[in-house]
Amino acid sequence: MKWSYSGGRSFRGCQRQWYYRNIVGVGQAKAPERRRVHLLGKTDSISGWRGRLVDTLISDEIVARPSQGREFPSFKDIISIAEQRFQRQLAFARTNSVNNIDIDTKHPDFALFRDDDVISEDDFSRAWEEVQRALRTLYQSDVVKQVIKDADLLVAQRSLQFKIMDDITVVAIPDLVAFELGCQPTIIDWKVHAHGTHDAWLQLATYALAIERCTPHRDWSDFFEKIERTASNIRLIEVQLLTGAVRAHRLTEDDFAAAEEFLESTAYEMACLVDGRKFDEFNVEEFLQARSPEACDACSYRPLCRETVDAD
Ligand code: SF4
Repeated sequence: MKWSYSGGRSFRGCQRQWYYRNIVGVGQAKAPERRRVHLLGKTDSISGWRGRLVDTLISDEIVARPSQGREFPSFKDIISIAEQRFQRQLAFARTNSVNNIDIDTKHPDFALFRDDDVISEDDFSRAWEEVQRALRTLYQSDVVKQVIKDADLLVAQRSLQFKIMDDITVVAIPDLVAFELGCQPTIIDWKVHAHGTHDAWLQLATYALAIERCTPHRDWSDFFEKIERTASNIRLIEVQLLTGAVRAHRLTEDDFAAAEEFLESTAYEMACLVDGRKFDEFNVEEFLQARSPEACDACSYRPLCRETVDAD
């Protein structure tokens, strides 16, 4: 079983949501009813979609370029690439539905909106304006420019894994890790939140713990020859791309202890609930639903919970 920061948060907020994503709707499940759950988990709100679009643009078209021997795109070029992706994904979402269970989720233009979200043309215009604003913030950020300029190696969206229990593996995928010979590495996490009030320190702490504990990857292991590979030796930066706020987190030993406690306690609770069972040995009612209705507003599995209520 895999543990991720988002999975840990989902488990604490709503066990039912975690069950749908991690047990019922896993990508390899072929049965039509499970495939539908998988597709529901891939549906986005419009704000979730434009955030994901910005994330992939940064990792595929900006950060990945040096290792591919390509120049960084100019701001004009990245806006042009972004507009093409925006329009292609929008066309895909408008012509496909979660009810088409044969849909190719690996399609380069894949995007799906939640069926019960009402999205107006104004919402799409605002989303496009926010994509441009996020990219402009990135291009104008002195902190980001300096980290990228100083780096000897940039690693974007790389999966870092380590075992936490016999049957649970932690998977962390930081937006960007910048390595510089003889210096502390830097982890940067981009956020595309309208208000930018959510503090990402706990997520960044779990990423730092993953660098400390995973088997070092061949392309970055040398960077730790002169620097001790401990979480507290890693710079942690959160960049809010819509507000322009940059938070350089200075975490204490107590903060890392709190992050470990979150990781271990949620992993332990998941392991106890699952208890080594397979998909067909569970009853959905074993998984507690969210206490607060607000949690359901942002959840892609609303149709399933409504169906359960209607069937009662
Ligand atoms: S709709 Fe609400 S109760 Fe149902 S899975 Fe989502 S968050 Fe949980």
